[in-house]
Amino acid sequence: MEKSGESSEKFVADAMLGEVARWLRILGYDVLYSRNYTDKQILTIAMKTGRTILTRDRGLYARAKKRNLRVVYVSTDNIVERLAELVLKTGISLDPDPRKSRCPECNSPLITVRDKEKVKDRVPPRALEANDVFYMCPRCGRVYWEGSHWRNIRRVVREALELVEVARNAARQARRPR
Ligand SMILES: [Zn+2]
Repeated sequence: MEKSGESSEKFVADAMLGEVARWLRILGYDVLYSRNYTDKQILTIAMKTGRTILTRDRGLYARAKKRNLRVVYVSTDNIVERLAELVLKTGISLDPDPRKSRCPECNSPLITVRDKEKVKDRVPPRALEANDVFYMCPRCGRVYWEGSHWRNIRRVVREALELVEVARNAARQARRPR
């Protein structure tokens, strides 16, 4: 964690954590992910780039630990619990903001577009009409906007942060001398 409270932690996720990778990217985190990464590739990436490994694989977790790499074994199953688990285990913050999002498909930072002309071929007419700001991926060309799915993103994050509070309170209770 950095002093500013803003975490710049970067990740590499194993094949079983595609959904987590997409969510972290939406929340602004740099996450390398490929269904085709081998364990060896993931370890090499982590070693060379200082990324934190996210894994569901006990064997990979053990190998990463042995090499003194930062690694999180993701033990929970749904996305709310998983985001909470990542906050508790890595100290990242969850701050949904489409301006900070990365492309969920390819991890590239998005470019803010205010000129509708530039995106009109890639956005359904209704969304084009309803929004003034769009976010374009310079790498894969996908265009995003703050549609109804952002209500869902904010709800999931709110629920995850509630779980974090519950867990932290429980930890405080456990530490309190009786
Ligand atoms: Zn992209």
